[in-house]
Amino acid sequence: MISMMKRVYTSATPMMAGFIRDVLENAGIRCTLKNYFLGSGAGDLPINETWPEIWVNAKDESCALAIIRLTLETQANAPAWTCPQCKELIEGQFHSCWKCGYTPQ
Ligand SMILES: [Zn+2]
Repeated sequence: MISMMKRVYTSATPMMAGFIRDVLENAGIRCTLKNYFLGSGAGDLPINETWPEIWVNAKDESCALAIIRLTLETQANAPAWTCPQCKELIEGQFHSCWKCGYTPQ
């Protein structure tokens, strides 16, 4: 049921999306990876539209977000942050929101 699913993660990097999926599944959270293409060709497609997304059951959303946040903080040396404008969770190495373009002051 698509209405029961929540998107918890989007990444420009397929490898990172695969990694996050593994982390969630190891934590016992079932998730679905969408737009997951490894290999060449991605550069020819419109940006954003083909970025890998991870979806989980709505009941697992808050738990998944907490795990993802912790994982990203461990991975990057900069903490992940939530865009105040569109509420997207942004990886720490990005200084502006990839979704709406918001840049923190
Ligand atoms: Zn944003």
